[in-house]
Amino acid sequence: MANDLKKGAAAKTQRPERMNLENDDKYPYHCSACGKGYMRQKDNFNVTPSPYYAGNGGYLTICRRCLDKSFEYYRDEVFDGDQDKAMELLCATINTCFDEGAWANAKKHPSPNRSKVSQYFSKLNLAQTKGASYADTILYRRANKVENAETIQAVKDNPKIMTPIETIQLFGLGFSDQDYETLQYEYDDWVKKYGDPEDKRQDELYKSLCYLKLQLQKSVQNGDSGIGALAKTYKEYINAATTELEDRRQKKEESVQLNPLGLWARDIEKYTPAEFYKDKKLFKDFDDIGSYCSRFIFRPLKNLLTGSKELDKEYKLSQEE
Ligand SMILES: [Zn+2]
Repeated sequence: MANDLKKGAAAKTQRPERMNLENDDKYPYHCSACGKGYMRQKDNFNVTPSPYYAGNGGYLTICRRCLDKSFEYYRDEVFDGDQDKAMELLCATINTCFDEGAWANAKKHPSPNRSKVSQYFSKLNLAQTKGASYADTILYRRANKVENAETIQAVKDNPKIMTPIETIQLFGLGFSDQDYETLQYEYDDWVKKYGDPEDKRQDELYKSLCYLKLQLQKSVQNGDSGIGALAKTYKEYINAATTELEDRRQKKEESVQLNPLGLWARDIEKYTPAEFYKDKKLFKDFDDIGSYCSRFIFRPLKNLLTGSKELDKEYKLSQEE
């Protein structure tokens, strides 16, 4: 385009009379780049939602042929064959929004009679993009970045945000998609190794490790000078955290393996004591533990739940004696 425009400008200065003739050629419409005259705008100029062409019936002032040439120039000479970047620059040049959906559509359904550029304009939803200039592309992108969301509700309301809402709720607002991915991956990894967090403290422990890891990763990528101190903090934190997590796991395993009552305690947490007490079948597994359970656990539990005042048999015996 730049070359063509330069050539066009040169042509104008060299042959002013011819330009006058061209403008006086009885054609009602002329391309503002090449000067070619056309009988009608339709089929020769693309329609844009940009407000900068509203007074021209919504038609661009650069003809389709010139627009295609610009696109090819951007693609081949400026962006080394990258047609997406070329199309975006073209939109910026003519101050029209760059709609990724319409462009994907144009690329997916090429038309033998139309260039990709013209196809793009035909795919643009003019009602939806009405009045959108290139600045709207910038604003639209900013609004759709998860790190710019100000509330969880704003995230929920924006279908363009791809990071799962659960991840954002877990780690809080303000991170980028990539950050959330790193954080969630780290979190899942800790869960895989040490199980789901059993309480808030363990949950916070996991999260802190994730934040520190992300910070460390970013510092490495940016080549920050304070990386030594950060790495040291991370190492110390990870040592302290793993010690605590190992300790928790060991205690849990011991209580399950060595003490059948531990297992019972675990199950009762699952079913809630009331349900447990009502469903006699659940007791079956503990029959072999003997009278210990019935005396020291079920009896007080029954008393607690039903308000009964059943005494331990040892106590009863002593009373009878
Ligand atoms: Zn033209």
